[in-house]
Amino acid sequence: MSSANQPRNVVALSGGIGGAKLALGLYRVLPRGGLTVIANTGDDFTHLGLHISPDVDTALYTLAGLANPVLGWGRRDETWTFMATLERLGGDTWFRLGDGDLALHVERTRRLAAGETLSRVIAGVAERLEIAARIVPMSDDPVRTRVRTAEGELDFQEYFVRHQCRPVVTGMGYAGAQNARPAPAIAAALADPALEAVVLCPSNPYLSIAPILAVPGIREMLAATAAPVIAVSPLIGGKAVKGPTAKIMTELGIPVSPAAVADYYGNLIDGFILDQRDAALASGLKPKVKLADTLMNTLEDRERLARECLAFASELR
Ligand code: GDP
Repeated sequence: MSSANQPRNVVALSGGIGGAKLALGLYRVLPRGGLTVIANTGDDFTHLGLHISPDVDTALYTLAGLANPVLGWGRRDETWTFMATLERLGGDTWFRLGDGDLALHVERTRRLAAGETLSRVIAGVAERLEIAARIVPMSDDPVRTRVRTAEGELDFQEYFVRHQCRPVVTGMGYAGAQNARPAPAIAAALADPALEAVVLCPSNPYLSIAPILAVPGIREMLAATAAPVIAVSPLIGGKAVKGPTAKIMTELGIPVSPAAVADYYGNLIDGFILDQRDAALASGLKPKVKLADTLMNTLEDRERLARECLAFASELR
């Protein structure tokens, strides 16, 4: 529960599952309307003729209470008639789309084709799903994360889903980022005098947060904001909780350490939440450090970590 002296407006930068866990905690501890989630769209792609925005949708489904707890992506209580039928017809089935999920992709594609911006489409969907937070794509312009690997350059979803992160990563790029503009709601959220904190969620720094920071202007706006910017470690005990963060760091020759993540964010951040299991590393970190249990298994864990973020931000102010 938030009390009068706790932060009101918070901006969270998020990728998919790891980020959305903390975004949900923040959503639940902040007053209604207090949260703005800036979601990565570097993972977006066109598939079966549909515009798919995996990280935006993870944020939508998570905050709406519709996320699939078993799969970790897509909608709960999903059915798969479309996929089964597509397979029967010899269609492309490496990227799975549930029946309910499909409706969102069809509707988004239709509205984009009719000339609406991605921001407008997502805001409309969030309203329909009765989400009392702003979910903002990092840009309305296309940015596509490309993963350079020992087997050649791959689109993000080819790397992540089709090849299940197996190829050795040698680098990444964010195609289109140079010409992309931040979504209009971002400037307003970051310039808000009531902004109490910016939280870089424990998402993959290279695949989820970096594409957001690659959009010209977003870094500058983060640097200019009066609110403290804090990052939460996506590594616990030298490992990623899920996904390829540690594997990619190893392949890029970066030490698999929260200190390397803090260095990567550099002077963009004012504080870093380090998992308490890694307390011994605290003295090696450049930004101010707060120790916390950052493992979010339960809803209570998400809320507790969200409160820790807000308390840390108020210490830094
Ligand atoms: P993706 O796009 O679905 O891969 O998800 P993200 O990029 O948002 O998150 C992936 C990162 O989240 C990985 O580095 C995980 O280690 C991290 N992560 C997932 N769950 C947790 C958690 O409970 N606590 C912390 N600290 N990190 C987590």
